[in-house]
Amino acid sequence: MANRVDPYRVLLNEDEMPTSWYNILPDLPIPAPPPLHPVTREPCGPEDLAPLFPMELIKQEVSEEQYIEIPEEVQNIYKTYRPSPLHRAYQLEKILDTPAKIFYKNESVSPAGSHKLNTAVAQAYYNKNEGIKHITTETGAGQWGSALALGCGFFGIDLKVFMVRISFDQKPYRRTMIETWGAEVFASPTEMTNAGRAVLAEDPNSPGSLGIAISEAVEMAAQDDAVKYSLGSVLNHVCLHQTIVGLESKIQMEKMGEYPDVVIGCVGGGSNFSGMIFPFMKDKFEGKSVRAVAVEPVSCPTLTGGKYEYDFGDQAETTPLIKMYTLGHKFVPSPIHAGGLRYHGGAPILSQLVNEGYIEGVAYPQTAIFEAAMTFARTEGIIVAPETAHAVKAAIDEANNCKESGESKNILFNLSGHGLLDLRGYEEYLAGNLVD
Ligand SMILES: *Cc1c(COP(=O)(O)O)cnc(C)c1O
Repeated sequence: MANRVDPYRVLLNEDEMPTSWYNILPDLPIPAPPPLHPVTREPCGPEDLAPLFPMELIKQEVSEEQYIEIPEEVQNIYKTYRPSPLHRAYQLEKILDTPAKIFYKNESVSPAGSHKLNTAVAQAYYNKNEGIKHITTETGAGQWGSALALGCGFFGIDLKVFMVRISFDQKPYRRTMIETWGAEVFASPTEMTNAGRAVLAEDPNSPGSLGIAISEAVEMAAQDDAVKYSLGSVLNHVCLHQTIVGLESKIQMEKMGEYPDVVIGCVGGGSNFSGMIFPFMKDKFEGKSVRAVAVEPVSCPTLTGGKYEYDFGDQAETTPLIKMYTLGHKFVPSPIHAGGLRYHGGAPILSQLVNEGYIEGVAYPQTAIFEAAMTFARTEGIIVAPETAHAVKAAIDEANNCKESGESKNILFNLSGHGLLDLRGYEEYLAGNLVD
């Protein structure tokens, strides 16, 4: 038989797109620790979360159903940019001279440029369905704010975005995207909320942080029954919506007759990695051998340097306490280019699986990840987001290990987004001005 050659890209037809998300909660070996009320420290009930989220998302947060149907209106929007392609990185393999096969799932093809639209569309839909017309949110580098602006735009919802000041200044084009898609954007900390005013009183030049921006968005939603809040990562329902990524990837790998030995993703709050890994984790629980590698920056080493304990999701201590890996809710990370990875905590399910040894964490400095991104751009062509570059670096390291050991492994990573609005980081790298 002739040698079978894998295709460069595996595309799926619309009718092959999964019609349900995979909910990992009922399959967890140890039940997930519940979120605790910020004041009473008792487990949170639905009524505690009702001021912030629509009921359907609260139900998903604790659902015991293994598969949750994707509403038809959400599927229809997914079909405008999904299923996303899964690529074989032949050119990268060649330059690395590795016996490994490298595959990547390309989530940069969404109109928002990242995986974040997958949950933005779903969250906007559930809010609309419950009659909600106003949403607040925070955004770091602006990817989430822009994705949610588009998601809300599809369903006629008005959105206010609190954008971390350092990114507001560094990434003006994301602001423009948010406004183009019809939302309003404010540099956080603002004078509009108690949380913002308190920070500004201490430091009028505060660069802001995701924790502060969350406090502002939550405060504004909690005070008004007509306003809900939306979070772009961390929460169970967000990771759930992202499982479309891993479910499609599994089908695409199967079509090639392959299965990954190692699955890699970058971790900010953990949603793109969780979405990619959870469907494979299901196989791992059933005894299949697959490694999962979560990649983060050394300047915000939540999984590799944080503690696994209950902590607040925000700076002002207004959110429920979540059991997760955390650097402490007062942590203000240095302004690296991977703005989407500058969060003090991590998704609780992901944290739990790291703690139980199912998932490995690894951290890289900024210069190393830009070097990897450069190699990737010059072989596969795609200029990845600085966040995604962390996953690229880990994939290259795995491939180099294979070269040394002579093993041929299947390496799969999630290409969470493109970096076409993050060229300042590339510019600094090329000029030799990037620091760790
Ligand atoms: C936001 C973002 C991330 C980090 O968020 P997660 O919730 O950890 O996925 C990673 N990559 C890109 C491109 C992003 O926009």
